[in-house]
Amino acid sequence: MGTELYNFISKLYPICRSITGEGTRETLRLIQKHIPLEIHEVPTGTRVLDWEVPKEWNIRDAFIKNSKGEKIVDFKNLNLHVLNYSTPVHDFINLETLKKHLYSIPEHPEWVPYRTSYYAEKWGFCISHKQLLELTEDTYEVFIDSSLTKGSLTYGELVIAGETDDEVLLSTHICHPSLCNDNLSGIAVNTFLAKELSRSDTKYTYRFVFIPATIGAITWLSQNKDQLSHIKYGLVTSLLGIDSLFTYKRSRTGNSSIDRIAERVLKKNKLACNIIDFVPYGYDERQFCSPGFNLPVGNISRVPYSQYPEYHSSADNLNFISKKGLEDSFRIIKEIIFEIEHGKKYMNLFPKGEPQLGKRGLYDSIGGRNDSQQLQMALLWVLSYSDGDYTLSDIGDLSGIETDLLNEAIHLLLTKQLIKEI
Ligand code: ZN
Repeated sequence: MGTELYNFISKLYPICRSITGEGTRETLRLIQKHIPLEIHEVPTGTRVLDWEVPKEWNIRDAFIKNSKGEKIVDFKNLNLHVLNYSTPVHDFINLETLKKHLYSIPEHPEWVPYRTSYYAEKWGFCISHKQLLELTEDTYEVFIDSSLTKGSLTYGELVIAGETDDEVLLSTHICHPSLCNDNLSGIAVNTFLAKELSRSDTKYTYRFVFIPATIGAITWLSQNKDQLSHIKYGLVTSLLGIDSLFTYKRSRTGNSSIDRIAERVLKKNKLACNIIDFVPYGYDERQFCSPGFNLPVGNISRVPYSQYPEYHSSADNLNFISKKGLEDSFRIIKEIIFEIEHGKKYMNLFPKGEPQLGKRGLYDSIGGRNDSQQLQMALLWVLSYSDGDYTLSDIGDLSGIETDLLNEAIHLLLTKQLIKEI
């Protein structure tokens, strides 16, 4: 699987993606070769929550030439060289003016940064700091053959129907150009997860969304407002390509079922992991967990964004990610899905006050046993947490009671019709 994921990333790597435009469409069409993704187009100017779908950006070519006519920066060699969403330009300018439009990373002089300007119209180039320092007084030809026009925002969606219409949302962003960990890794992992899930019978319905960051999530939420109550679990997947510790960022409530499951899977695998509380910055969990939606959506990644130096630079390339990193990420998310599918849940049929156990003969049936006190505790734990949200494993984790004893308690409570399996 590591090789398949890596090969798919290699195919997607050269494409110049953005929050809108042909690169994004081409990416979605390549995903369609693996899964029957539905592609949605939302026109420029459409009101989406408090935002508006922006103009569509497309780019064909860009370069900087010196006075000898030599191309010193060429978009065709590396699409990060152009400030993403640059307005078109064709001009002859001096060094001082050029420098006002250049971006570099002084701390990593060999790398080219990835920079965007979606909501302020300007043009620019990204180059290595080393190259910037080497530029001499000259007349430079700057050329960016881009367009910002009325078009649409494009996103992909695949719904895999399960036995129930309760949903698991898996979301990843698709707007970064030639960058591998952020976020071709998320695109590849989600594509192949969808491929596997579409071949199996599932209890839950799985909704995969491939959306440009922020504006894509806002657009999708705006168009699906009435469906959101079906979402019982959600994961934003990002930065899954490197073989480092895992990071799980909890949903905003901090205690959603997905939070308990993800933490349990990571701990069970004895993987180096970092579990963090929700903070209102990061990826699209910010939108899914905004107070008006407050969905049970966490974020799973390896080392989080901005905490690795290669973040948003040309060093996040095909050499930076590894097959092992991708494969382990894929396996862990699959295990989380397995737990979602197979976690047993019960509903207390007498949830208001404790049901009277004595009159149902439950105390009689357990009297005289060495572990009767423990079994009684198990009965109380199961009754207390059988609210349709906590799984048997959750109750085991919370109470510290062994599974065998919890199962015995469940058997007794089912027999006496105090709980039902859901
Ligand atoms: Zn990013």
